Amino acid sequence: RGGSNKPNQPKASSGNPIKPKAVVSTTSGDSKLFPRSNASLTGLPSTNPLYMDDTYRNKAEAKVIQIVSGEQESIVITDQTIFHPQGGGQPSDEGTMTVGSNNFEVKKVTKAKETGAILHAGVFRRGSFREGDVVSQEVNMTKRIFHARIHSAGHLLDVAMAKIGEQRKPGKGYHYPQGAYVEYIGKIDVKERDAIVTKLQAAIDELIKSDIATKVELKNNIRHVSVAGVEEGCPCGGTHVRSTGEIKSMRVTKLKNNKKNARVSYSVEV
Ligand SMILES: [Zn+2]
Repeated sequence: RGGSNKPNQPKASSGNPIKPKAVVSTTSGDSKLFPRSNASLTGLPSTNPLYMDDTYRNKAEAKVIQIVSGEQESIVITDQTIFHPQGGGQPSDEGTMTVGSNNFEVKKVTKAKETGAILHAGVFRRGSFREGDVVSQEVNMTKRIFHARIHSAGHLLDVAMAKIGEQRKPGKGYHYPQGAYVEYIGKIDVKERDAIVTKLQAAIDELIKSDIATKVELKNNIRHVSVAGVEEGCPCGGTHVRSTGEIKSMRVTKLKNNKKNARVSYSVEV
């Protein structure tokens, strides 16, 4: 589904498959700041994803499994995490991890596809950690909830498209604060676009006003998420708001064709 973020299968929209090596170049945007050798990051156990249980939980404790220190930036790996990693077209959480007065700023979080280990990249603002330390994790909730609203809006768009009779298979999705969109398979003729955008906006407004609860259930151990009352939820590892009402305000900003697909761009009010 367009709004989906398959837990074990990052979508094309999330960029290249996330490998520990890729973290080096993507985390700070400057590979020189980052540890050169990530060889030791292979063979890590998968991280227990606490963020999947409750979007609104902002704190947790976790044990440090490994630290890879760079000259300026480091990677901290813990046994479990409250931080949602980048993936499925959704940006990662940010926040802090602390042990006493030792403080690590979490700037970007990625998931190693091969192992399921979640890598917290960032900077020690004070002191450092040791393996075995129990850290207090705290997520920046302003960004967390904003990202959850934008991502949930992607799911909502799928439902609104179906509601107005545009039964198209969702493709790529991009759920960032700037330039969010979902693509649907098949082009839409330029003559039809204005009418579709008008109907789509009305359907979206109605779904938000109806304040429909988000449903999350496990099927064969895979988390399925249903937004805006769709019967069949889809597999998704993203963060979602409790109900459509919490998306608050969503505007369709553009409808255009991108190669063989129709791309619906949207924005969510800060
Ligand atoms: Zn989702």
